Amino acid sequence: MNKTADFVWSNCLSFIKDNIKLQAYKTWFEPIKPIKLSGEALTIQVPSKFFYEWLEEHYIKLLRVALVRELGEHAKLIYDVRMENTYSSNSPQTVKIPSSNRNPLKPQKVSVPIESKRELKNPFIIPGLQKVKIESQLNPNYNFDNFIEGDSNRLARSASIAVANKPGGTSFNPLLIYGGVGLGKTHLAHAIGVDIKDKYPDKTVLYISSEKFTQQFIDSVKSNTRNDFIHFYQMIDVLIIDDVQFLSGKAGTQDVFFHIFNHLHQNGKQVILTSDKAPVDMQDIEQRLLSRFKWGLSAELQSPDYETRISILQNKLFRDGVEMPEDIVEYIAKNVKSNVRELEGVVISMIAQASFNRKEFTLELARQIVDKFVKNTKKEVSIDYIQKVVSKYFDMDVATLQSKTRKRHVVQARQLAMYFAKRMTKSSLASIGSQIGKRDHATVLHACKTVDNLTETDKQFRKYVEDLTKKLTF
Ligand code: ADP
Ligand code: MG
Repeated sequence: MNKTADFVWSNCLSFIKDNIKLQAYKTWFEPIKPIKLSGEALTIQVPSKFFYEWLEEHYIKLLRVALVRELGEHAKLIYDVRMENTYSSNSPQTVKIPSSNRNPLKPQKVSVPIESKRELKNPFIIPGLQKVKIESQLNPNYNFDNFIEGDSNRLARSASIAVANKPGGTSFNPLLIYGGVGLGKTHLAHAIGVDIKDKYPDKTVLYISSEKFTQQFIDSVKSNTRNDFIHFYQMIDVLIIDDVQFLSGKAGTQDVFFHIFNHLHQNGKQVILTSDKAPVDMQDIEQRLLSRFKWGLSAELQSPDYETRISILQNKLFRDGVEMPEDIVEYIAKNVKSNVRELEGVVISMIAQASFNRKEFTLELARQIVDKFVKNTKKEVSIDYIQKVVSKYFDMDVATLQSKTRKRHVVQARQLAMYFAKRMTKSSLASIGSQIGKRDHATVLHACKTVDNLTETDKQFRKYVEDLTKKLTF
């Protein structure tokens, strides 16, 4: 019978599909195209060199069995590596072709006689290695019981619970929890791990910050134990990496993480990541890694609303065995909005102050502490920074803003810079004047009055002030 490449390959595929996880099948086999069959040699086209290496590393046995079934003992597999038009020159998916042959569209042929394939060492069959007990590095104080639910965290919290119930068994893999500082990312990440350890004591769970991961990787390279490092991570059932934004710009660490990630994902292991940004906003993270991050679920933690802030406060007070008048709790919840860590910080300071000075909780004490907290955590704004933001907003450079010109839009920009400098810094009028184009204090005073007036009378101008206020106070 005269078999075609399509026919042979489709038979191979149905065999392969029965033998591996669906996700892996979709990832690694669906993109392959059968190209040619000549005698006992089947040529398949794969999307990249990396893809080819991956198949060779992980599926060669399976491919061999499938092919031998179809084509007999002397079956041969030839890869046709279809080069991608990638922009990044250091992407390992780009095969380095000798300079005489550097046509990115020309397929590269790699012929691999199956019978001569070398066996790859599998770290899992090294005796004893699998039994190594790994400390989870989890903090039991961060659990689901004391993570207060609210609109701001509902999705992330439920996804986390789902993952904890069935690690590796949901479509939330990886689960990426992202959001601003102090909103509970680390807490949730630990809570998942703690719950899994509780439900599945035999699973190897590991929590690690991405800084520590990076450091370990660098050390492993220095001490020539990179492979051990990789093997170690490939043994984990549930890998939790906190603050992956710190991997940005670290190509080597990203690369090794990419391989670990693929291995874990491939084998149905759970990966949980946290980040201060959504994947789309992450910078200097390789595209192929970002695309992996998006495979599962990205769930955002937002700033808690008022009700949630009240619950968080009450819960904290309850756990600390402290009673606090309702109006004070409300005052704190009303004034500390941006993050939960600050909310807790205020309570801790209140308790410390009150017990240290044997004072009652008073609204006045709350006011002082909240004031300190909220002010201290605000970023100091400098006059330089204000000038930069204002110039940029009006699409001019700082030199123009400071110049002597009387052009109306430049004058307005200059006046706005002075106004914000007065409002947002502790500098004197004279000092503001000297920093913004060497003017005197009377000019600055005049500028502030003008801005006040225009804000009341001119709608467009009011918009400027509002926009700039937002930009300057984030
Ligand atoms: P992130 O990692 O996002 O910066 P953390 O997880 O460290 O934030 O949280 C900061 C503090 O706020 C921790 O003490 C944490 O327990 C607490 N926290 C955050 N969200 C909640 C919540 N929903 N319920 C209870 N405590 C919370
Ligand atoms: Mg954190």
